[in-house]
Amino acid sequence: MKKFVFLLLFIPLVTFAQQAQKIARIDSVLTYLYQRQLFNGTVLIGEKGKVLYKKAFGISDPRTGASLTTASAFNLGSVSKQFFTMMIMILKEQGKLKYDDPVQQYLPQFPYSNITIRQLMNHTSGLPEYFDIALGDMNLLDTLTNESMLALLAVKKPDLVFQPGEQWQYSNTNYTTLASVLEKVSGTTADAFFQQYIAGPLGMKDTYIYDLTMRSYPSSRVFGFEYQKGVPVLNDLVRFDGIVGDGNVYSTVEDLYIWDQALYKEKLVSKATFEEAITSGKLNNGELTKYGFGWFVPEPGKKVSHTGGWVGFRNEITRYIDRNQTLIVLTNGTDASAIYLAKRIWEDKAITLPVTHLITNVNVIDGTGLAAFPASVRIVDDRIRDIGPLTPFVNEEVTDGQGKILAPGFIDSHSHHGSGLDDDPSALAATSQGITMIVIGQDGSSDPIDSIRASIQRHPVSINLATYTGQSTLREAAMKDDVLRKATVAEIDSMKVVLARELDNGSLGLSTGLEYEAAFYSSPEEVVELAKVAAEKGGRYISHIRSEDVSLDEAIAETIEIGRQADIPVQISHIKIAMRSKWGSSDRILRQMEQARLDGINITADIYPYTMWNSTPRVLFPKKDFESLASAEFATRELFDPAASVMVRYTPNPEWQGKTVSAIAAINHETPAQALLRIIRETAMPGQGGTIVATSMSETDISHFLKWPYTNVCSDGAMSGHPRGHGAFTRVLGRYVREQHLMSLETAIQKMTSLTAENIGIQGRGMIAPGYFADLVLFDPETVIDNATIENPLALSTGINYVWVNGKLVYSDQKAVKNFPGQFVERR
Ligand SMILES: [Zn+2]
Repeated sequence: MKKFVFLLLFIPLVTFAQQAQKIARIDSVLTYLYQRQLFNGTVLIGEKGKVLYKKAFGISDPRTGASLTTASAFNLGSVSKQFFTMMIMILKEQGKLKYDDPVQQYLPQFPYSNITIRQLMNHTSGLPEYFDIALGDMNLLDTLTNESMLALLAVKKPDLVFQPGEQWQYSNTNYTTLASVLEKVSGTTADAFFQQYIAGPLGMKDTYIYDLTMRSYPSSRVFGFEYQKGVPVLNDLVRFDGIVGDGNVYSTVEDLYIWDQALYKEKLVSKATFEEAITSGKLNNGELTKYGFGWFVPEPGKKVSHTGGWVGFRNEITRYIDRNQTLIVLTNGTDASAIYLAKRIWEDKAITLPVTHLITNVNVIDGTGLAAFPASVRIVDDRIRDIGPLTPFVNEEVTDGQGKILAPGFIDSHSHHGSGLDDDPSALAATSQGITMIVIGQDGSSDPIDSIRASIQRHPVSINLATYTGQSTLREAAMKDDVLRKATVAEIDSMKVVLARELDNGSLGLSTGLEYEAAFYSSPEEVVELAKVAAEKGGRYISHIRSEDVSLDEAIAETIEIGRQADIPVQISHIKIAMRSKWGSSDRILRQMEQARLDGINITADIYPYTMWNSTPRVLFPKKDFESLASAEFATRELFDPAASVMVRYTPNPEWQGKTVSAIAAINHETPAQALLRIIRETAMPGQGGTIVATSMSETDISHFLKWPYTNVCSDGAMSGHPRGHGAFTRVLGRYVREQHLMSLETAIQKMTSLTAENIGIQGRGMIAPGYFADLVLFDPETVIDNATIENPLALSTGINYVWVNGKLVYSDQKAVKNFPGQFVERR
């Protein structure tokens, strides 16, 4: 018995100490955030009517620098909604309306006869979002008001998203309509009613409904802002703000606490009436919605809350109604971390503080093609936060860029580095040339996305990955490896199902390797059918086209035709002219592609900067007649230079590995054509294989293709083999930009970053801009160069200093840093 009494006495003491500790923790976290421009606002924590913590951080107006106080009035955004539902409750108690009355009873012009007031309040009406309705029709100078909004609804009568009561979907239109009902029924303005029945009686002296049509505002009004170049810049009301109901109640943490406490008593409406507001609404089928009247109900009977986000403002009120505790955070900034973190601490959940990092003293090339400019770049966790003449915060990690170039991390739109990630998860071959993201699933061959995700979860990697879905892989599955023929309708249908599933899972689109045997025999119709599936889902088409030599023109025409028929953006991958007698026709091919663009086909290309390719020697037989001496002689004459083409892998006789085809011919006292036939024969034996790096293109064509405004840079490289795996990007920067002046550095960077992101269809990467992922490369434009060669394909590039992926350093001066922040990147 004694022990029991002791515990009873002791528990509240511990709780009290814990609570004080939590508040101290919240205060220190808010201070930390405030000092790093991650929070500007006011906070109040209360319990049973007693204020436990109340504090203001920062400024109320970026133009004057005036300080916030806990009596400063913020635009509550959607936290306003609870006040509008309260006014409807008051009208109901006055007998002036019933929740289940149709809206049309009060607003005859409202075009939906079967929507009730209750459905507006609990977001089950099916009304579409008014921003979308208004944007199409508004004059840019108009200010939207409740009246004009209602008129717009009446005229356009947009389709409901669902039949009333069938689903729950948050829509601000419910509340703008609710405000119109309120004004109609009460015969006065929303603010006049609000002052008379809520703010006045409760003594909320700094709370009011404000809209853009009003001429003045109280001095307590707070202005929203954001940091640009380290300086606070006004970011406040927009032309939607002539409207009320969904937002535009202004209030302070002090007034909101008065409001919160009044809700426990029967000061405004009866207990039963308010109880319904914080009880989940019901759908027609009886299912609960977790939303009452202007309140989210995450834990019925325990916790109700509402967030409010609007231009320049982020807010939340959380009421722990079983304990009568309240947490209010109002911010006039763009960052919600204070709201999130304070709530998690109060709820005894673990937190991670955001970490900022400043890269100073750099010339920023932002990836858009704009000229370099001196600046500092601030990173918060995995994102770029700000760019400009920024100064370090207290204790902030700073990297001195020593005046070098800071660019977005390079995106490799055609990569084979993925298969080497098991052996080298740091992807040194890629990061050492500034690549932060590789795009795999190329040439028609891909892995299922679930297995890619699982694999990088099991073995985290240093670079980001995205993938296309390969046609040959789809064929092999659907046709049970019997792929040297056309697919049947049923087989194509089964490929479409798998492709659609992969696209839903984030695939960038369809890739083909039509020159390779697993796809060479597929009909153009099959490819179009599959491309249409990708197009429907917003995906893209990338192709190693059917021929890069003898039938190059036809292969490009086929690609254009796929773009036309499937209505899909098409990319010719590693564009090249691999046939001597066609050298010099790059201008004509580019004109063909330009014409397609004029015809409305979004055709683009990528390229690697080498005159040699890397593949199976079998591609040297365009007719697939692998025993024909005539074809072998044609190949040695037209398709590659046997004296400058090396068997980099040759399993039948490893001693020949590293030798040219001419050297192998000499050993066997054969002509190069005979040697080629021997190579084909021996590498086709069971369990054998071979890879050739074949010299076959002209520098002039490469330069022309590289300069085309729609060509982005790729490597087509792997962790070993062809030197492009280690040097493609640095080779462009060193040889084509610095030495040959083929294009400006800014243009080259654009072709490695934002253009690539555009061409593959991803968002949030490829530029140095606020909110973009912090994939970055710091390099020296005076020294950057590739060093990898056929003889020494693993040599690292010179001049790449640092590479960051998702804000984490992964490469530093010739060495991989053991960080593995790589993410799987989905189609936008
Ligand atoms: Zn290829």
